[in-house]
Amino acid sequence: MEERPPATDAALATGVWVVGEQYGVRDAIDRVDTAPDAWLPLQGRPVWPIQERDGSLVWPERDWRGQWDTIRDEDRTLRPGERRVRLIVDESPDPRTRTPTVWAPGERPGLADELVCLGRQDDATIMRWVEEHGFVGLRADPREWRESVEEIRAALAHLGQARDLVHAIRQLTGDALRSETERLLSLPAGLFAELKNDPDQPMSGPALARMFGIAVPEGTTRWSGAGAHVQALYGLSAVLQAPLERFLRVQTTIAPTGDGMRLQGAIVAQGPLATAYLETLDEASWPAITYAGSLLRIDWRTPRRCGRCGTTFRPKRRDQKWCSERCLWAASKARHS
Ligand SMILES: [Zn+2]
Repeated sequence: MEERPPATDAALATGVWVVGEQYGVRDAIDRVDTAPDAWLPLQGRPVWPIQERDGSLVWPERDWRGQWDTIRDEDRTLRPGERRVRLIVDESPDPRTRTPTVWAPGERPGLADELVCLGRQDDATIMRWVEEHGFVGLRADPREWRESVEEIRAALAHLGQARDLVHAIRQLTGDALRSETERLLSLPAGLFAELKNDPDQPMSGPALARMFGIAVPEGTTRWSGAGAHVQALYGLSAVLQAPLERFLRVQTTIAPTGDGMRLQGAIVAQGPLATAYLETLDEASWPAITYAGSLLRIDWRTPRRCGRCGTTFRPKRRDQKWCSERCLWAASKARHS
């Protein structure tokens, strides 16, 4: 059988991420954009007060005509949708004149789990992580110079939700998987079970499978537990869609070459958070749903890519991340160094 290349070649996109020399924390107000998704407004525009010569604080604001104005700190009130946040700001000297510290998020094993864990730590731990590794990369902008603690937490919680769903798909079956999927997606308990065998319901296993392009014969009722996986995969794809759209932007850059410069395109997916999503997408693509006769089943033995060396291998266990003992050892060593 011909092995098709994995769908997540983007996981190979590596890039370097810049670490600032000096970070400060400021009180700020996060203005909510008109974007319907509360998570990560693309142009997140936190504002913070400026100190006047007499020591008082004023907030720079635009009025309804777009004219700049300043509001005294004691007069500033939160508007609907706004909230106070703690903004981490890169206060390094001019980045054009320094030699920045860089690292490659794509080469760090277990980065996604590390970030989910970070999102549950206290503010000081998050601050220390940023000081050591640079920003999390919420806006997929390599020149990012500010992120609030609150945004980081929200983004990492969203990542954690996606990864919990991946783990549930890997470990649970049938109604246990259905109820865990419902819990993780905040859906009413019992919804998927209620819909599972009703072919007229768009969220039933058969209807979703048809939507994914699998030819399910009319009247199919035997699913052998695969229906729960189809439903969970559908939920997972919805959770992954917005962040992946965010991170897999392509932009052109004019880059120096040995003898001059040339225009080239690059995926804006170099930050730690983008890398964590690519890692998650890669893991989510491990189980394949195969269809034989009237039965759907989950196939764990479809080829996957080694999280360390990139080689494609056929797994012996469902949660096998590395192609060999050698890569497993190297990854665990890198993790603890
Ligand atoms: Zn390997």
